[in-house]
Parts: sequence; structure tokens; C-alpha cells
Amino acid sequence: MARAAGLACAALLCLAAAASAAPGPSATRLIHAAGKIVPIPASIPHEAGDMVDRRIVPDLRWIAQRYPIYITDGYSGPLPNGEHVGCDNCHVPGSDHYNGLAVDVVPLGGSSRCDASWAPITRLALWAEPQQNQPIPPFRWVGYNGDAGHGCGNHLHLSWNHAPAPQFQLAEWVEVFPVGPAEAGGEPPRKKRTPTPKPPPGPSGGVSTVRSGGLSARGD
Ligand SMILES: [Zn+2]
Repeated sequence: MARAAGLACAALLCLAAAASAAPGPSATRLIHAAGKIVPIPASIPHEAGDMVDRRIVPDLRWIAQRYPIYITDGYSGPLPNGEHVGCDNCHVPGSDHYNGLAVDVVPLGGSSRCDASWAPITRLALWAEPQQNQPIPPFRWVGYNGDAGHGCGNHLHLSWNHAPAPQFQLAEWVEVFPVGPAEAGGEPPRKKRTPTPKPPPGPSGGVSTVRSGGLSARGD
């Protein structure tokens, strides 16, 4: 009896959380700082050796703090030192994996069948793409249910908008969602006792509606 009540409660909480969660990031910005293919930090569960463009690492950390993700592939291609990273010939031509701006994700400790362990991944997919083929920026392509070779029990693909870039080259800019201390789930910034004069906030300038339209092929 108690267990049944608990389960019902959990289900209700799930529904409430799903209903209240606004889809997608509320703002994005373009990063023009130079990119670099770097190892994925340990705080973001991933397959050994996986790497991404460092400019999406804060977004990945933010996601990993909210969804139990395990990254199975990030950048796929050669490194400057000649070593190869990621899977071989496993992505479509033009894939964002070849620029280090895509990840494939499965549930951390989950199964390869579409069971309850995939529920958070499904929520993440719907957060990034509430309507099929209409990803919320900064996401450029979201591969999940309804996309061949993707979906519950297979994997979720997330890629970020970026300047058109040739295969195995870093994009000139990447669109990301800003990750502040509060947004990142950390403690809000502490108020200082001695007020520090600050310049008035200028125009935000960071929010952009620019979309990457250069690559027509879907990133698999
Ligand atoms: Zn992928």
C-alpha cells in the first residue's frame, strides 16, 4: 500500500516536473573565442578518450548536472598529433561530430533497451527539441525518437549551431546557452558587504538569433 502510494507520488512529481519545465534554453550567445578539441572533463560521464570542442563543455556540464547522461561519442576525427579520436566512419558526411560540436548520449548506467532508465534522456531530448525537426537553439540537430538509428534504447544525438566549417576543422563560432552560477545549479552569487561600484549594464549583445544555415546535411 505504502509502496503504491509512493509510486503514484513519484509519477505525479514526474508529471509536474515535465509540465513545468520550459523547453530549451531561454537565451543563447555566440562564442567567437578560439575552439580546441579537449578531453571531456571527468565531471561529465563519458566513454574513455572522448573529446569535444571546449566551447560546449560548460553546456555539457550543465546538462550532466540535470540529466544522468553518459557520452558515448563526441569529436570524431584526427588530432593535430595524428592520433584518431572517436568512432570511425560511424557518422554521416557533414556530421557535427567531425567538428567536435556534437555528442551521442545514453543513460548513465542504463540499459540498451527502451526502459525506465531512458526516461530522463527522453526528457532531455524533448527539452532540446519539443517538436520534431524544430530544435531549440543553440541546438542544431537533435536525433532521437523518429530519427533513424536514434531514439530511446539507442542513443540521443545533440549538436550545437556553429559557423560552417570543413570536416575536422574548428568552427569560427559556436552558439551556446549561457551557464551562470544559478543556472548551473550552484549557489547564487553572494552579496558583498561593501558595495562595489559597477558600470551600468550595457546592451546584452550576447543574445543572438543567428542560425547556422551553412550545413544542410544532418549531423548524425
Ligand atoms: Zn551523433
